[in-house]
Amino acid sequence: MKLSEFPISDNMQQCPCCDYFSLAQRGHCLVCPVCFWEDDCEDPNNSKWDAPSDLNDNMCLREARKNFIQHGAWKPEYSSIVIQASERSLLRVVRRNV
Ligand SMILES: [Zn+2]
Repeated sequence: MKLSEFPISDNMQQCPCCDYFSLAQRGHCLVCPVCFWEDDCEDPNNSKWDAPSDLNDNMCLREARKNFIQHGAWKPEYSSIVIQASERSLLRVVRRNV
């Protein structure tokens, strides 16, 4: 996929999984182009790291974030679907420690 296929806004919001500012808005079940996590409205500033996400096959954020670091997507099989690593540099990222 290409970043241009995803909605962009002037006020991009941080993905709770990959930490990139990749979501045009929160609370609309948007899929993150960087890690393919579906936004389940988890608060990035107060995340429940071990709570299962029903929109993401009941995986918790802690596990999904590990997968993103290892495989480049929240689930290994999505690593070929997400945008290329070179396109990530077009997005702001603020890494959070878990
Ligand atoms: Zn993401």
